[in-house]
Amino acid sequence: MAGEPGIIQLGPDNRPIVPDQVIIPFIEGDGVGPDIWKASVAVFDAAVKKAYRGKRAVHWMEVLAGDKGHARTGQWLPAETLESFKKYRVGIKGPLGTPIGGGIRSLNVAIRQKLDLYACIRPVKYIPGVPSPLREPEKVNMIVFRENVEDLYAGIEWPANTPEAVKVVEFLRKEMGQQVRMDSAIGIKPMSPFNSKRLIRMAIRWALDRQYPSVTLVHKGNILKFTEGAFRDWGYELAREEFPSQTIRESELPPDGNAGGKVVIKDRITDAMFQQILLRPDEYSVLAMPNLNGDYMSDALAAEVGGLGMAPGANIGDGLAVFEATHGTAPKYAGKDAINPGSVILSGVLMFDYLGWKEVSGMIQTALQKTIQDKIVTYDLARQLKGAIEVKCSEFGRAIIENME
Ligand code: NAP
Repeated sequence: MAGEPGIIQLGPDNRPIVPDQVIIPFIEGDGVGPDIWKASVAVFDAAVKKAYRGKRAVHWMEVLAGDKGHARTGQWLPAETLESFKKYRVGIKGPLGTPIGGGIRSLNVAIRQKLDLYACIRPVKYIPGVPSPLREPEKVNMIVFRENVEDLYAGIEWPANTPEAVKVVEFLRKEMGQQVRMDSAIGIKPMSPFNSKRLIRMAIRWALDRQYPSVTLVHKGNILKFTEGAFRDWGYELAREEFPSQTIRESELPPDGNAGGKVVIKDRITDAMFQQILLRPDEYSVLAMPNLNGDYMSDALAAEVGGLGMAPGANIGDGLAVFEATHGTAPKYAGKDAINPGSVILSGVLMFDYLGWKEVSGMIQTALQKTIQDKIVTYDLARQLKGAIEVKCSEFGRAIIENME
């Protein structure tokens, strides 16, 4: 409701207008979720308090999903949870397990699709001191924009030899003249200009707002011409039509490569791009890609900068955003106060940046970096770092708070 206290309003281009006393719904998450959330929220509150001395505050509002949702309401994803995210416009969540036998493919996918959070954003920036398999990890500073609601993830598929699969196979053989084995399983890969373009539009705006030098369209269009190849073509079309004076196509750059302050739009084939992120990461900044490519690429990139425990994420739609840990519920560590809370803490950094509370995002980022440089880390980084002081999840959070200036 307009003007209700604590609620974010929307400005031009759906940018959030944030009240000083803001209400933010959170899902604690399953498995390691409670451990991680406890450590993370303490870090968030300490940073807000330190940055604004009471002038601004976050009022956290728990909403239910996953095991806790099921235990308390009988539902894995209660409708009120989705309504709260819609009403308050920004939320944050821990990992959610996939209920077995509940007829639900994935709660995370359901949240993204039901709230139309069409862009999954994963920043991948090296934090000095974090163990990395790369020789020059400081060259890694990319952000993945992954299309979030269609492609093979639309979930349109049928097992082999079921009446549905047989019907589709017969249609393909008889009506479309395709050679498909009768005993095939079938999955459908829908990709539309509408969903591709709004994702690419958000990626280009992000690059322009934050002065990133390029946006790379990552696709498998050499083989999948009318889906992934079209993604590339729609991207170039959109840049030409909507950002003609602010972007330039790589092929149109002058011989000296000077883009004249414009964002360079380029494209790479997915398999080649997996090499590029290892060998020449500094040539890339914003990456926009279809759903499945984005899934693989984000985890590969996370491995370059400390692994899943250090990988933040956000799912963003028009004026609605849910920030989340990239990893799952890591059940073997549940309740052990051992896991790395870095993924949710860095998702919080992304969230405060999105809210425009840059003092908070900067303070947490700096304190986290200092803690890691002091070699105070959880088990996952300790096993890769010589001379590390291994601490628990909660202790890592406390060390970050102590390092805030
Ligand atoms: P996972 O929970 O991500 O855990 C796999 C492994 O990744 C862990 O055993 C651990 O490796 C490492 N890891 C994960 N989180 C970490 C952290 N915070 N700090 C350090 N290391 C971390 O994947 P999974 O076991 O395949 O999935 C478990 C459940 O989570 C499934 O139900 C799945 O559907 C769900 N899931 C949810 C999300 C989400 O909520 N966004 C995402 C993925 C999966 P080591 O054992 O080597 O230490």
